[in-house]
Amino acid sequence: MNEQPKIGVFKYSCCAGCEFQLIYFQKHVIDMFEKTQITYCRMLQSGGHPEGPFDVALIEGAITEQWQADQLNRVRAVSRYLIPIGSCAVCGGVPAIKNTTEEQEIEKRVYTDTSLVHSMKTGAINDYVKIDGAVKGCPMGVRDLSELVISLLLDKRPEFVNCSVCVECKLAANICVLVAYNEPCMGPVTNAGCGALCPGHHRACYGCWGPMEDANAWALAGQFRLMGLTNDDIHRKFTEFGQPTTQWKAGQIK
Ligand code: SF4
Ligand code: SF4
Ligand code: SF4
Repeated sequence: MNEQPKIGVFKYSCCAGCEFQLIYFQKHVIDMFEKTQITYCRMLQSGGHPEGPFDVALIEGAITEQWQADQLNRVRAVSRYLIPIGSCAVCGGVPAIKNTTEEQEIEKRVYTDTSLVHSMKTGAINDYVKIDGAVKGCPMGVRDLSELVISLLLDKRPEFVNCSVCVECKLAANICVLVAYNEPCMGPVTNAGCGALCPGHHRACYGCWGPMEDANAWALAGQFRLMGLTNDDIHRKFTEFGQPTTQWKAGQIK
């Protein structure tokens, strides 16, 4: 690639923590981005040109409104690579908790007048468009983000981490909190990338990196039952970062 790659950053329903991670917190990532042009990012001062074209579109947040889905389709059409960043975009994340109730039930608890609320069922980015990989995490992981940017600069397809948190946990020689302390750890079904941060501090993983491919949610839910968790407890664990269409579905049955 001779010209500097053009990057567009789009934000939908989320806390914007991944964009903060991208722009403010990771100096070495910013250094890498100096070799690129960020031609659209509303969080940056000048905003830019949302119409593209983009070598890579980074998409933060889940889809909860129709205008977002419409814009996302337009972005896909003008982008070489389209990559969701962070759990909200990759698997629905926290915004998808609302999918566990009837539509409008949550809205009615918060607003006296819901006529101005146009929210629809939460969807991940790949529910709407083809994606070319994913930078998982809440906020997104810097290792996968670095892989993405370096691959872009080298004009090669990025390869993302695709195994469970348990793999990283074993590599770090952590004590297993599930086996040793009977803690209901989501590590066996959660995608790696954080370096087993929570078990490394003797805490159970709560799944913020979202579901790993081929996760055996059914088996882990069965283990949680043996450990004394109620069906409601298990349902909450499997819906905190995984909307009902993901690989954690088997753990979401009450
Ligand atoms: S993935 Fe986490 S940090 Fe990123 S936007 Fe969603 S809630 Fe915020
Ligand atoms: S502590 Fe959790 S992540 Fe680590 S090995 Fe045990 S179950 Fe897996
Ligand atoms: S151990 Fe689990 S909850 Fe903790 S940061 Fe990693 S993926 Fe998130």
